[in-house]
Amino acid sequence: MPDVSFDCVSCGACCFSRNPRYLELLPWDAARSLPPESLFTEEGRTFVRFECGHCIHLDLSNGKAACQVYEDRPEACRAFRAGSFECVKARRANGVMGALAREAS
Ligand code: SF4
Ligand code: SF4
Repeated sequence: MPDVSFDCVSCGACCFSRNPRYLELLPWDAARSLPPESLFTEEGRTFVRFECGHCIHLDLSNGKAACQVYEDRPEACRAFRAGSFECVKARRANGVMGALAREAS
């Protein structure tokens, strides 16, 4: 068996994207408290801002990938399961701690 760890705090790969509209808020997010300055709206759809190739709420200091709004993270983040097909795909594309995404930028 390959030794694959899906510890999100040492990964963060799914919080990286070059698509500025990667993370859209959904109706369930209306009750969540996300800082308004971390969001933008286009054509009636609201998205979380991405900067430097990753979500603005991702804190990569201290060698960890920490979500700074974990309690209020959007529905799409909650639905993203560690070890899922999408998770493995994100890790292959972006690398653990976004290493591959940062190399490509
Ligand atoms: S890519 Fe998978 S292991 Fe990494 S943070 Fe996202 S859900 Fe967790
Ligand atoms: S809100 Fe948190 S979990 Fe969701 S993409 Fe941003 S840093 Fe990652």
